[in-house]
Amino acid sequence: MTRALVWLRRDLRVADNPALYHAANACKQGVLGVYLISPGQWKDHDDAPCKIDFWIRNLSKLKRELEKLNIPLVIATAHRFDQAEPVLSALAIRHGCDALYFNREYEVNERRRDEVVTERLEAKDITVRSFTDRVVLEPGDVLTKANSYYRVFTPFKRRWLAVAEEQGVEALPAPPRQERLGIESSPIPKAVEGFTGLGIDPGLWPAGEVHAEERLDRFMAERIDRYHMDRDRPAIDGTSTLSPYLAAGVISPRQCLEAALELNRGRLDSGKEGPLAWMSELIWREFYQHVLVGFPRVSMHQPFREETDRIIWNDDEERFQAWCRGRTGYPIVDAAIRQLLRTGWMHNRLRMITAMFLTKDLFMDWRRGERFFMQNLIDGDLGSNNGGWQWSASTGTDAAPYFRVLNPTRQSRKWDPDGAFLRRHLPELDELDDEVIHDPPGLPTGVRERLGYPGPIVDHAAARKLAVDRFRDALG
Ligand SMILES: Cc1cc2nc3c(=O)[nH]c(=O)nc-3n(C[C@H](O)[C@H](O)[C@H](O)COP(=O)(O)OP(=O)(O)OC[C@H]3O[C@@H](n4cnc5c(N)ncnc54)[C@H](O)[C@@H]3O)c2cc1C
Repeated sequence: MTRALVWLRRDLRVADNPALYHAANACKQGVLGVYLISPGQWKDHDDAPCKIDFWIRNLSKLKRELEKLNIPLVIATAHRFDQAEPVLSALAIRHGCDALYFNREYEVNERRRDEVVTERLEAKDITVRSFTDRVVLEPGDVLTKANSYYRVFTPFKRRWLAVAEEQGVEALPAPPRQERLGIESSPIPKAVEGFTGLGIDPGLWPAGEVHAEERLDRFMAERIDRYHMDRDRPAIDGTSTLSPYLAAGVISPRQCLEAALELNRGRLDSGKEGPLAWMSELIWREFYQHVLVGFPRVSMHQPFREETDRIIWNDDEERFQAWCRGRTGYPIVDAAIRQLLRTGWMHNRLRMITAMFLTKDLFMDWRRGERFFMQNLIDGDLGSNNGGWQWSASTGTDAAPYFRVLNPTRQSRKWDPDGAFLRRHLPELDELDDEVIHDPPGLPTGVRERLGYPGPIVDHAAARKLAVDRFRDALG
């Protein structure tokens, strides 16, 4: 190979970037990075404005990191994925590239796009090489004895650990600095049309791999040892908040795993509880990426458990809007939604509570909630979002059984006992004591009315019973 285009997508970093590293080491006449802006496709995928803004801000940082290595970064527009191939072909010809390198993505549309690009570029004598990057272990490397994809997490994890032990987990260094190519990098757009109006303060999520690595280091130094105890408490900074960085590939799962292994004396399945619990969450992330490949229907708005398509969900726009605006009258649900709208991120325990509330208490189609999350999350990722929603709705792989419905008020008392999280996001309830804040009294005391906080839009006990009955009737 003489010169390669390295097509960057959700791998916005120079360290441990397999496509970039291998291209730089294989090509005598250097490499150039290319990034395609695809607003039409991003709209179809419901990508949130704050997420697109995060990608763009990371591109600016990446451009600077690449320039230190004399690697130019070219930005082009391919409005939709079907325009990617002609744009890449034209760039390859213009810059004298005989190879295209990229890291694989696993959603259906992304895989189709990559197949078309590969086939057409190879037909033009351009070599195409792709690499495992979004996950530590490639989908297909972790299979059951019958050579099928796992449907349940625990056996997946057992096998994943065995394969990871065999293959080893090693992050790659940044590629070497190359001779200048004389190709100018493109300016990075300030914003992408159709994705303005972020609704959040971008300062909450600083861009760049240097920042992501610092975030990882801080988590390792200060919090991972207590992770198993603090991870369910939304008022505490108990988790890594690395999900936006992992979703955009500003940091890799190998870098995360390597750091946790270092603290755990290289052991994947024994040792300290904090690192083990955290590594297990990274394996959940892997599981859902593998599910995308093993069961592509989940990328196409289909339930994993196909029989659950018989369920007839409620269609109550007013209640759905109350949920979307954080006005359900259940403080933990409302505070969670407001955290999402204000920060672009929601704590995992709260994602489960709000998703279960929508799909069980309000008995609404999980796809509506999945879409709303995607439209607002800075870490929105089809595999994890779909997996989390289908888990909560009892329609997914290894999902919560339909009769086990989280009680939002009990969850609130358990995980936010002094209401610190509620107070942060629902200042109108601040004056209430630690007991009352989880379920403020309505009439005749009139506390909710006085504070301008709505009454519960549904009675949890009655709604739970109805949801269980409807599941039982639909599934037999
Ligand atoms: C309904 C629902 C929707 C979700 N949507 C998304 C999404 O769009 N994008 C996303 O990255 N995660 C999603 N999750 C998973 C999880 O809530 C977030 O990954 C986590 O809250 C991110 O916070 P953190 O980085 O501090 O995680 P940590 O607790 O520090 O965990 C480390 C990393 O492991 C991964 N991870 C942690 N928990 C899970 C999990 N349950 N499933 C899959 N991966 C996990 C994430 O990449 C995370 O950054 C969803 C969960 C639910 C229940």
